[in-house]
Amino acid sequence: MKLNELGIGESAVITKVGGEGALRQHFLDMGVIPGAEVTIVKFAPMGDPVELMIHGYELTLRLDDAAKIEAEPVTERAPRGAAARPVSKSAHPGLGEGGKFHPKGSGTPLPDGTTLTFALVGNQNSGKTTLFNRLTGANQHVGNFPGVTVDRKDGPIQGRKNTLITDLPGIYSMSPYTSEEVVSRDFVIIEKPRAIINIVDATNIERNLFLTMQLLEMDVPMVVALNMMDEVTANGGSIDVNAMERLLGVPVVPISAAKNEGVAELIDHALHIARFQERPLRQDFCGENDHGGAVHRCLHAIAHLIQDHAVKAGLPVRFASSKVIEGDSLVLSQLGLDQNETETMEHIIVQMEAERGLDRAAAMADMRFDFIQKVCGATVVKPRESRERRRSERIDRFLTGKYTAIPAFIGIMALVFWLTFSVVGAWLQELLETGIAALSDMAAAAMTAAEVNEALRELVIDGIFAGVGSVLSFLPVIVTLFFFLSILEDSGYIARVAFFMDKLLRKIGLSGRSIVPMLIGFGCTVPAVMATRTLPSERDRKMTILLTPFMSCTAKAPIYSFFIAAFFPRHGWLVMTGLYLLGIVMAVLVAWLYRGTLFRGGAAPFVMELPNYRLPGARNVAQLLWEKAKDFLQKAFSVILIATIVVWFLGRFDGDFYMTANSQDSMLAAVAGALSPLMRPLGLGDWRICTSLLSGFMAKESVVSTMEILFGQSVSAVLTPLSAATMLVFSLLYTPCVAAVASIRRELGNLWAAGVVLWQCVVAWGVAWLVRVVLSAFGVA
Ligand code: GDP
Ligand code: MG
Repeated sequence: MKLNELGIGESAVITKVGGEGALRQHFLDMGVIPGAEVTIVKFAPMGDPVELMIHGYELTLRLDDAAKIEAEPVTERAPRGAAARPVSKSAHPGLGEGGKFHPKGSGTPLPDGTTLTFALVGNQNSGKTTLFNRLTGANQHVGNFPGVTVDRKDGPIQGRKNTLITDLPGIYSMSPYTSEEVVSRDFVIIEKPRAIINIVDATNIERNLFLTMQLLEMDVPMVVALNMMDEVTANGGSIDVNAMERLLGVPVVPISAAKNEGVAELIDHALHIARFQERPLRQDFCGENDHGGAVHRCLHAIAHLIQDHAVKAGLPVRFASSKVIEGDSLVLSQLGLDQNETETMEHIIVQMEAERGLDRAAAMADMRFDFIQKVCGATVVKPRESRERRRSERIDRFLTGKYTAIPAFIGIMALVFWLTFSVVGAWLQELLETGIAALSDMAAAAMTAAEVNEALRELVIDGIFAGVGSVLSFLPVIVTLFFFLSILEDSGYIARVAFFMDKLLRKIGLSGRSIVPMLIGFGCTVPAVMATRTLPSERDRKMTILLTPFMSCTAKAPIYSFFIAAFFPRHGWLVMTGLYLLGIVMAVLVAWLYRGTLFRGGAAPFVMELPNYRLPGARNVAQLLWEKAKDFLQKAFSVILIATIVVWFLGRFDGDFYMTANSQDSMLAAVAGALSPLMRPLGLGDWRICTSLLSGFMAKESVVSTMEILFGQSVSAVLTPLSAATMLVFSLLYTPCVAAVASIRRELGNLWAAGVVLWQCVVAWGVAWLVRVVLSAFGVA
């Protein structure tokens, strides 16, 4: 039978994994392999995707994908591996004890003063961020990996000189499935860190060790940090660390990153193995007698065959061998095998497939999980069912329940937005605005007293203070929004939202994960664009970024209020709701368009782990907020500062560079005037309207302030209700502000950013025109 035919609570053993290419590899990497037992936990409220339990953790799959997996109902459970003895408290061996690792004092350590570089690698939700923050303290640098916009954080280990630790993206495997996996793999191969710190979630150890085994193959000194040991022991489980160390051939240190237990010991071990360059003692996990030894023979034969090529290409031999067997095209091209070798290799692999009765990728994954099962069987005493798991199930009954999921989601989001935009954030924003205003007054007074040139004074007060100040006043809102969102994310809720919204989003060619940035887009496009970094596929990420400007951001609300008060006082709520809906409808339509043109093909497959709900650490949240604030401030004082000065300059000087008192003569007016023929068909040809829209490019709020200055109170004398409606639609859809464009540029580059500006204007014009035509047909004048 197929996996999608199982009902809730039913279990089956996987017999065959279909599908092809990277997706199939991803299935296998996530532990969906022949022989694994799965239990269906629940279906999403809309019936798709499905949540299932495998290797002791929860995974979501779309029904389409589940249909590619064949399974047989469970009859009898045969435990693999020996049963472990519980260990209460075993002394952990010291550095280099028992000759396993270099005894202290002997060996050849790297010369003093060599910078010890570490890569921190682990699965998502294994506590990587928490550990990284513990290790580095506040002293870290945030950037991007060269060539890609995947977050890169590094910093020295607190209190240790000549150390540098780099936080790699959370990954499940070293296969090039997501851009983050490629980044991590390239980092280890090309940048060659002195050592790897592999963080492993001990509550989910089987799945986590899958990555560990591939890291061991990289032949780089490594230490395993067994995280979340507090949860394991609290629930009556135990892990025989010393035995695990023997089996894996690397130091294993039990820690709790959240409680700061064992971290000091981890650092000692990490420094030791890096300094003495102690490579893993074991890279060979295939047993001679496992299933007749077919995989073992194949792997070793291929290792011999490609050894010289691997060395030449700078790839670890064992890693290269297992990757070519899996059919990894990247490694294959790097190796540059000749035809004879390729054919020989193919023969060996085909022979293995025949003997093993599994295809190559499945055979490799199976070999790895076999070994993991042996290790865990001998060392891990599983807690029955953890408190955290039961708690998660209780919470999920409500938050992902069939009838409660969507109302709860809407409620939570409404609460977050309400708190951000009208309680906490707004309050802080007011405070900051008052502060900036006071500062601006003080500066004005000081400059008057010092008899500073009038133009300069105006530039500082009306240009810089007004411009940068108005953008700066958004800082509290952005930080508050991020505060709530990071709590939702770290607690594990966002993963659930992606789970139950997937079906809806798939209709427009996206996957469930895109919901998060879109929601943030209703707040502000800048953090929304930044939030797309969590999306696994480049295609989805681009498409989501291009859709966020359609979500009406809060900075546009003042424009709506202004026109509603002047023209439609009796239909206020109708117009407001209509605008928000129009934005969403446009996003859906444009998404359809994109799906058929720019972004063909389906959304990234939705294979995702649902972690247990956990209370986010205060330290992580504080660190994140600080990063976001810093990011934002940097932008305010670079891009926005420059743009403000330019607009002010254009608005105050005429074409001959004389300062003008009448803004009608300014260069800005001239530029706006040039635009006016374009806007005339929309009934928005007035240069003052064009100027306001232009200034809206700086920040949407300034559309209103500019109009107030230029029109006084007489806007209703210049515009008709019909034009006002057109103006509203145009404001809703036209180019996002510079801050947003700058963040799009950071993610996608110049070309895309320019494209977004142009495209949004074209769409805005088209839709505004259409609305105008329709409204006039209905007799609106
Ligand atoms: P990442 O996704 O790998 O960066 O993981 P995070 O550092 O964001 O941690 C995921 C969740 O696990 C957060 O809610 C943390 O507070 C929690 N967490 C991290 N380390 C530990 C630990 O040692 N024990 C417990 N109980 N929770 C932890
Ligand atoms: Mg993290």
